[in-house]
Amino acid sequence: MGNNDQEYRGRLAPSPTGLLHLGHARTFWIAYERARRNGGQLVLRNEDLDTQRCRPEFVAAMLEDLGWLGIRWDEGPDSGGPHAPYSQSERRAYYLEAWRSLRERGFIYPCTCSRKEVAQAASAPNDLDDEPVYPGTCRPDESAEGIARLRPGETAEVAVPKWTSPAGVNWRFRVTDGEEISFTDLHLGAQRFTAGRDFGDFLVWRRDDVPAYQLAVVVDDAAMQITEVVRGADLLKSTARQILLYRALRFSPPQFYHCDLTRDENGVRLAKRHDALSIRKLRELGWTPEQVRAGIVPSC
Ligand code: GLU
Repeated sequence: MGNNDQEYRGRLAPSPTGLLHLGHARTFWIAYERARRNGGQLVLRNEDLDTQRCRPEFVAAMLEDLGWLGIRWDEGPDSGGPHAPYSQSERRAYYLEAWRSLRERGFIYPCTCSRKEVAQAASAPNDLDDEPVYPGTCRPDESAEGIARLRPGETAEVAVPKWTSPAGVNWRFRVTDGEEISFTDLHLGAQRFTAGRDFGDFLVWRRDDVPAYQLAVVVDDAAMQITEVVRGADLLKSTARQILLYRALRFSPPQFYHCDLTRDENGVRLAKRHDALSIRKLRELGWTPEQVRAGIVPSC
């Protein structure tokens, strides 16, 4: 995984499902600083795929809050750029192409399990930062017609003519149980995860016809030629899944820098429901951008 000869390209990828909080401020500030220090470009991508949860007023608020913090970007939904569109809701054609490629080559399979069924069937206690390991209910037999077990780099064409569109069922990426996925994080050092134990067959497309986060983010980071992904450490296991997708889609992965998580005074990771720690609220309370960027949780 080396992109040393390329120009640095980083990205900010907020989801407009709520107000940005102190934790986001810190992660996005680090992303901005790293792009600046490397003399690179920074892309802002609006991750608004989930139309049930995303709201236009949160898009406006996130652009405003990031600007107030002092973060500037070179390409984005407001300013345009060579990789437009920069809102995921307008990029469906890219995700469909990736879905088709994964399906034709046997990397994914249809799954009818509901979220509740998966949670109930999971044997291990759930990692709160992550989804339960899929118990394999809909996973086809290795010998099942139409689904091939492919090794990295193999390119068998598998005909599954029934599916011309992903709509109506979930689609899962089939992992190889026991496979180790390792990478060197630029902040946290050596990382190693085991497929089938740390995470299972994961969603690439949801049955409500929304591409899943893992697929959309890989397709976009590759298409936008991102060389370094800066994100929170809660996404380490997602990065491991995404490395499998990079490989399956024959994209070259970027480097990764996972930031330490910001926690509240009880040690709970900040989430958008922590409205009291939203950038807006802190700003109203008279905090300066420097104080918010430092990401230090007030003890009140
Ligand atoms: N939209 C995702 C989030 O806000 C992006 C995560 C990432 O890949 O950096 O959690």
